[in-house]
Amino acid sequence: MAATEMPELRTEVACTFCLKPASDVETVVAGAGVYICNECVALCAELIATKPAAGGMPSLPWEERISDDELLALLPRVAATGAQVDRRLTLAVRQARLRGITWTRIGGALGVTRQSAWERFSGED
Ligand SMILES: [Zn+2]
Repeated sequence: MAATEMPELRTEVACTFCLKPASDVETVVAGAGVYICNECVALCAELIATKPAAGGMPSLPWEERISDDELLALLPRVAATGAQVDRRLTLAVRQARLRGITWTRIGGALGVTRQSAWERFSGED
């Protein structure tokens, strides 16, 4: 295996919007640490196509319009999305390190110090 290959990058991901695993949908498109499935793309296209005129925002059910129980059910899903983004960031930093990019440059890209980047991502104490 080449030094730049990372088996973790091939582990299954979930749609950031609906959290369905990639194996449960037809297609998942990757963005910068996030993913969207074909079903969510279709829903988004429908919402965009039916949006109110003159700058109105397409609507999705969200915190202020849902019941307390729905909001509580949403919390672990948001946490799972955050965890997936964190895992993807960690893998991207590991890829940067495999390329020989310094902790100073990684920290600079993330807006933190070299020390903070190392502490968060090196896996060392
Ligand atoms: Zn989805």
